[in-house]
Amino acid sequence: MVIPGPRPVLVPVRGGGFFPVRRIYCVGRNYEEHIREMGNDVREPPFFFDKPADAIVIGGAPMAYPPETADLHHEIELVVAIGRDGSDIEAAAAPDHVFGYGAGLDMTRRDLQAQAKKAGRPWTFAKGFDQSAPLGELARASEIGHPEKGAITLAVNGVERQRGDLADQIWTVKETIAFLSRFVALKAGDLIMTGTPAGVGAVVRGDVLEGRIDNVGTVSTVIA
Ligand code: MN
Repeated sequence: MVIPGPRPVLVPVRGGGFFPVRRIYCVGRNYEEHIREMGNDVREPPFFFDKPADAIVIGGAPMAYPPETADLHHEIELVVAIGRDGSDIEAAAAPDHVFGYGAGLDMTRRDLQAQAKKAGRPWTFAKGFDQSAPLGELARASEIGHPEKGAITLAVNGVERQRGDLADQIWTVKETIAFLSRFVALKAGDLIMTGTPAGVGAVVRGDVLEGRIDNVGTVSTVIA
């Protein structure tokens, strides 16, 4: 190597071991109430954006308030960890490709996202910035199964801001994997953030964020 190489991003797994991260794909809109609160059309098909693997903040560590924004928003999401490669995966076979699940935060510079939408530009600065993906411990599917319902919540400073149920996802995890794998080859190590329920809002320095998904896990961070 001609320069020091990047370090692998490793996410702790409940019960021991680490999950090495390759790519992070994110579903843009997947809960009807959140689509309505953002003023969008619920009938649209899903779309995807991505975050760099090294945007992950692990284990409740603080995330820095990012530069160039005055409107940093929280989005609590179910995260799917892919454990087996595949393209054109049938929805029925999708669970065979899942290693496990976790709770994650799709932190968003909402002001830059609004500017990008207006200008028809990419969301990289709005979504893919440094430390934009706090992530909790992953749980193995072999232990918890493949959750299709259960409360997904986020509290800021102990006050609940977001609440939804996995059963309210417009596109199920199976359908999301099937759809995404038509466009890109999924590989072991990929993560998919599956969209956020209603209640997104701004945070400021010092705020403590605690997310929880029933039977899956938790994620926490403090805005530093
Ligand atoms: Mn999101």
